[in-house]
Amino acid sequence: MIVDCHVHLHGNGETPAANVDFRLKYADRLGIDLLVCSLGESLRRQPTAQELELDNAWGMEAIKHCPQRIIGLVYASPNHVDKSLQLMERYIANGPMKGLKMWVCRRCNDPNCDPIVEYATELDVPIQQHTWIKSTGNMPTESTPADLVELARRHPAAQFVMAHSGGNWECGIRTVSHQPNIAVDVCGGDPEAGQTEYAVAFLGAQRVLYGSDASGRSFASQLAKVIGAEIPDSDRRMILGDNAVRMFKL
Ligand SMILES: [Zn+2]
Repeated sequence: MIVDCHVHLHGNGETPAANVDFRLKYADRLGIDLLVCSLGESLRRQPTAQELELDNAWGMEAIKHCPQRIIGLVYASPNHVDKSLQLMERYIANGPMKGLKMWVCRRCNDPNCDPIVEYATELDVPIQQHTWIKSTGNMPTESTPADLVELARRHPAAQFVMAHSGGNWECGIRTVSHQPNIAVDVCGGDPEAGQTEYAVAFLGAQRVLYGSDASGRSFASQLAKVIGAEIPDSDRRMILGDNAVRMFKL
């Protein structure tokens, strides 16, 4: 079982279904079974409440097109707390979505994230939080791994997946290593050797997940980080699928 825990349904067709079909064509070549998807309709960094509705409706259409293989995350924004909670109730509490995506609306240590994280904890679903440490400087509203540690300390019962391992993954992985409710995905960035081994060494394999960030990156280049890693096959199985199955309750 291979689960790609970080996929976007954007940029390959005019409809959710077209994007799903395009992704699945390549997923089939590589043996990827399930795609955990978010951010479709727009890739808006600062969506209005209405745009959040549209984006999540797009995700719902994608799930309906292929419910056996498309897993949805609610796109939540700390700029629109009430709307985010409403969408979580509609799409997670009442099904079928399995977690949250938070991107770059505000830095994730912002207090406005607290009610969203509290509800996710109550629903017992994980939160995929974008993080990056950019050499050229982050966007003002873009989270770093240290921001996520602040949020995760405030919510020890919540489960986070730190997207991109923080971009600068050596620094990002070390930053979250002592915060047990933060797992990482290896997606995005160049397919550098050593990333997966480094994450396993600092976090243990049970806190590392395969993801691609398609369409920003290809399935194959990101899968290679795990397939080519010098780790035991039992660790590889956890990273490729078992951890995602457990965390997202697939
Ligand atoms: Zn992404």
